[in-house]
Amino acid sequence: MDAAGLKVRVAERVDARADALDRLALEIHARPELAYEERFAADALASYLSREGADVRRSAGGLETAFVAEAGSGRPVVAILGEYDALPGVGHACGHNLMGTAAAGAFLALRDVAGDVKGRVRVVGCPAEERGNGKVALIKAGVFADVDAALMYHPGDRDELDPLMLAMVTLDVELRGKAAHAAAEPHEGINALDGLILGWNALSALRLVVRSDSRLHGIITDGGKAANIIPDRAAARLMVRSPDNAYLGELRQRVLACFEGAALATGCELRYEWSDVCEVVRTNRPLAEAFSANAGSLGRSLQPRRPADTHGSTDMGNVSTVVPGIHPFLAITPGPVPGHSIEFAAAAATPRALETMRVAAKALAMTAIDVLCDPSLARRAREAHAGR
Ligand SMILES: [Zn+2]
Repeated sequence: MDAAGLKVRVAERVDARADALDRLALEIHARPELAYEERFAADALASYLSREGADVRRSAGGLETAFVAEAGSGRPVVAILGEYDALPGVGHACGHNLMGTAAAGAFLALRDVAGDVKGRVRVVGCPAEERGNGKVALIKAGVFADVDAALMYHPGDRDELDPLMLAMVTLDVELRGKAAHAAAEPHEGINALDGLILGWNALSALRLVVRSDSRLHGIITDGGKAANIIPDRAAARLMVRSPDNAYLGELRQRVLACFEGAALATGCELRYEWSDVCEVVRTNRPLAEAFSANAGSLGRSLQPRRPADTHGSTDMGNVSTVVPGIHPFLAITPGPVPGHSIEFAAAAATPRALETMRVAAKALAMTAIDVLCDPSLARRAREAHAGR
């Protein structure tokens, strides 16, 4: 069977599983779980793959809520990635309930035609996108070492082929002071909260003189225990983002200096910890063009990046740095709806969202068919990745 025939076939195989995929997406939506705690979602997806006959390796890469399954043999290797973690307070406000299911649907459809193509397809269940960089651990564990193309999509409010996803690093700061009675002996204390606020204000001032395409933001996670005690501990979690990996490196030194200065000024001790860095997503042009053509055949018109468009960050950036990859957005809403909002969480359980999830599964599977059937595509993707 030729590539065109195989694409028709994988689309049919996604449709054949539509009810099961929809149900899974809604079940995961109804039980939002935070990063590295996605036990229900990971189990639901892995169990479904097993019931369909796939040999699923759970706890892949040593991560309890990761899984991997594979079909076919030889090269090339196409990885299809799915996420399933949620956000605190707002549930599936990033629509990840629609990503693991799309990846599972695409993988099973490809598995059904594995006998007719050369190469392998690997579905990778990726925990902890919202916090914790699960894919960084999976990269270190070698899950992508032999991968020729890493494909995923993300639900959004616009069909976007090459969204700008910022580099990001998280900084946890902790100021240590000395507790004392806030009225009787305040002079005996060292106020860690004042130290933190001073650093916070320095950060706000810094924001005015950094590149306008970069972002500094965060939350205070500990501001003391009681109003009548001088706080001996205060803490914050901050995020530093930039579309430029090198500028991010500069910014992080300046952000840290805000809190070093504040600690010095207030006599506090500063402790801090940086997370792994999320790198900028490098959209692989040949793979993106293939995905765009396939999504186009399914009635979706993916738009190029607009200068004013802003997004968050993703550990898919790290995957796309080590192997050719794509991370397009497909709209699940009729118009603009901000991500990470209650409204987006509601949108992620609508018939429109489920339909988009099935379109994504088909477009991902069809793009995998392109890679498996056309050796020149894998070569062009490799060359583009190497910058040639
Ligand atoms: Zn997301």
